Amino acid sequence: MNTFTYTRADDVGSAVRAIATEGGARFIAGGTNLLDLMKENVEHPSRLIDITHLPLGEIRPGAEGGLRLGALATNTDVAYHPEVERRYPLLSAAILAGASPQLRNMASVGGNLMQRTRCPYFYDTATPCNKREPETGCSAIDGVNRSHAILGTSEYCIATHPSDMCVALAALRAVVHVTGPAGDRAIPLAEFHRLPGDTPHVDTNLRPAEIITAVELPARGFADHHAYVKVRERTSYAFALVSVAAALEMDGETISEARLALGGVAHKPWRDPEADALLRGRPATRENAQRAAGVLLREARGFGDNDFKIELARRAIARAMAQAADMRRRA
Ligand code: SF4
Repeated sequence: MNTFTYTRADDVGSAVRAIATEGGARFIAGGTNLLDLMKENVEHPSRLIDITHLPLGEIRPGAEGGLRLGALATNTDVAYHPEVERRYPLLSAAILAGASPQLRNMASVGGNLMQRTRCPYFYDTATPCNKREPETGCSAIDGVNRSHAILGTSEYCIATHPSDMCVALAALRAVVHVTGPAGDRAIPLAEFHRLPGDTPHVDTNLRPAEIITAVELPARGFADHHAYVKVRERTSYAFALVSVAAALEMDGETISEARLALGGVAHKPWRDPEADALLRGRPATRENAQRAAGVLLREARGFGDNDFKIELARRAIARAMAQAADMRRRA
């Protein structure tokens, strides 16, 4: 049993000050990942700073016609919010593809971004893991790696980011708002999570003592042509082997704007602006979907058990594109 102290923060400033003064402290909101990690002895914070009473739960209009999701809005609040359902149904679909109703009732927007990999070795303290304990090795590279990454990997870590919500946020080009000792700043979602490199224990580009305050969705919601395709071992309550968020704008038969993002394949939601650019101005055909898949997966590499993910991702991209553009009648 690891002992820890508990503090409840009443405003954002006191939360930031509290975490800045104690290196081993952690924020806790819904606790749907952190409590598991503590029970498994993967994380042992010296202090939990309860942020559930901070005024960060609101979903309200954002800048330039967008929508601002407070960091403490629950996944359920977001998925069923009338404006999200009407303007950003891709985001609702991705959230509802993840976890269970009970977990979505507790999990927050900020916590979803901060959740850690579900690599089994990360949770097994009897095995080496560079993410849990730097410079001990990676058990997955030569181990059981069916669920692991095929893109952006390093010799130090091949873990994936587990979020569905973040894949949709990446496709929608959301922006993460944070505040900390040095003030406020905004981080594009695509730059929020890191690739493992030689520091896989660092998941994000948050600076010390920063807290997520909101995630802002741009005005463009792709409500008319979108799809979230999630392929998993069972049909509910499972993490993605591969997922695809596809968001299109169509001008007749032609794609006028495209956004693709992949989940379950890398340490962060995977995007490639070249794939989006390739689709612009072209018809929404299976052939063009396969060309975009070729760009997104051009550096894909398997590690044995997960080799199948490369072809699976290719097919999932084609299916998501077809659903988003209603291409099936032409396939
Ligand atoms: Fe640890 Fe990453 Fe290797 Fe999994 S893939 S064992 S999280 S270093």
